Amino acid sequence: MKVRILGCSGGIGGRHLRTTSFLVDNDILIDAGTGVGDLAIAELAQIDHVFVTHSHLDHLACLPFMIDTVGDMRNRPLILHATEATLEIIRSHIFNWAIWPDFSEIPSPEKPFLRFSPIRVGETVDLDGRKVIPLPANHTVPSVGYQLDSGQASLVFTGDTGPCPELWEQVNRIRNLRYLIIECAFSDREKRLAVASLHLCPSMLLEELTNLQRDAEIFVTHLKPGQIELTMQEIEDCIGELRPGMLQNNQLFEI
Ligand SMILES: [Zn+2]
Ligand SMILES: [Zn+2]
Repeated sequence: MKVRILGCSGGIGGRHLRTTSFLVDNDILIDAGTGVGDLAIAELAQIDHVFVTHSHLDHLACLPFMIDTVGDMRNRPLILHATEATLEIIRSHIFNWAIWPDFSEIPSPEKPFLRFSPIRVGETVDLDGRKVIPLPANHTVPSVGYQLDSGQASLVFTGDTGPCPELWEQVNRIRNLRYLIIECAFSDREKRLAVASLHLCPSMLLEELTNLQRDAEIFVTHLKPGQIELTMQEIEDCIGELRPGMLQNNQLFEI
């Protein structure tokens, strides 16, 4: 499985900041933040599956636009995978005919552009041997992370999460773990906000990573624009010996 980072910032601004989205091979998206807007129309049309971690806009913003753009170029529905709780929020608050049309009924309920598919933590979705496994997360709205497992190796993406012991229980069971992409949305200067919004800051990241019992290459994501240098310096001071990288747009992972 090839994973390409389309967006990994906590916000927008300038030419380099895009919110969360990862392209897996040519046909799967993990989250659909503003990074999706860089894909060409032909690339958008090839996407068959979107797995979202949660309903916050920075992880979803481009989904309504992409369906509208390529729906009629495709001969099968785009499948939106999310927990029942997240699907309920997305249906009531986005595809509700007020914010955006309900593309699960367009052009007809029998042959729609969009189909909703509920997932559950721990239940594998197997797409031709490419496994996508929802992981526990702890955020202000119902949330999951994802394990991507090619059989050869696994990549774990935490999504947005505060401290989450259940996540580490699962991650420590992944024998072929190679990459861990973990959020660190705030600097330690804003720890109060990190705690209140169920995100992580460097000192909390350190505490979370003490639970990790496996070797993995670690990348941090979701840094807040304007605090990137400060946060990376704090991360270096807290967990420098783990040699964490800062996730970058267009970065490629192969598992
Ligand atoms: Zn969030
Ligand atoms: Zn977010």
